[in-house]
Amino acid sequence: MAVVPLQTKHTLCRITNDNPTIHRPSLLRLRVTCSVTTTTTKSRPNREKLVFVNPPLSNDTSFQSTWSHRFWVSAGCTTVFVSFAKSIIGGFGSNLWLEPALAGFAGYILADLGSGVYHWATDNYGDGSTPLVGTHVQDSLDHHECPWTITERQFANNLHFLARGTTLMVLPLDLAFDDHVLHGFVSTFAFCVLFCQQFHVWAHETKSTLPPLVVALQDTGLIVSRSRHVEHHRAPYNNNYCVVSGVWNKCLDESNFFEALEMVLYFKLGVKPRSWTDPNSPWSEETNISKCEHLI
Ligand SMILES: [Zn+2]
Ligand SMILES: [Zn+2]
Repeated sequence: MAVVPLQTKHTLCRITNDNPTIHRPSLLRLRVTCSVTTTTTKSRPNREKLVFVNPPLSNDTSFQSTWSHRFWVSAGCTTVFVSFAKSIIGGFGSNLWLEPALAGFAGYILADLGSGVYHWATDNYGDGSTPLVGTHVQDSLDHHECPWTITERQFANNLHFLARGTTLMVLPLDLAFDDHVLHGFVSTFAFCVLFCQQFHVWAHETKSTLPPLVVALQDTGLIVSRSRHVEHHRAPYNNNYCVVSGVWNKCLDESNFFEALEMVLYFKLGVKPRSWTDPNSPWSEETNISKCEHLI
């Protein structure tokens, strides 16, 4: 007759929201230790499995969009559209298309670099109480603990933070300048910044769940793909930071750009980046866990 002693140990994996003071329903990490003995066979070695039991996060209100989130995303999209319209109208008026097109391309390329630098900074420095970007720092930390949860966030919930920054950056430029070359750059740069979190979400989803157009954009390298982003969630956790197209990742990683920057900051300010912390910290998540397995 089989004897099956069962032990469970529950730990809570914290998930953040944009209000760090609110305690969120948590992902339950269930550690199950089983040992099985029978009267006819020798005792099997203890087997330990980690099982994630995921509550229905889509019902978690902290992952849902609020009217404030929708307002800021709408405002960001409006300011970007106005900037883009000024570029197009200026192109029609002057019949000069090459300059704004090149400026737009530069905006697209530099937005990828900007996304990498910003992502690196929020992944490695500060915490939830950091002024201005504390929410995003905490979101970055939580994203590395439970990467798939980013796909559970609703659209405006995920984009509102950068939409806010985009609005505040682009609105004054819309009001102050009519130069269509300038707006060629600004509109493309701001569009990519505003939507880079959506590109990031798509990079965490499987192709079968994505619209064909998104898959085509990923396959052509115009936006960051799952295969380009996946390394960011594997040891040593300090590469592939760019999340627009990911075109800068190879160059930045092979030149050890961020490592050099981290050393400079360490020697100048004495601040260590989080990527230097020991591998047992929550930073290195258990990537062999059931639901994580196909999402990271
Ligand atoms: Zn990250
Ligand atoms: Zn990610």
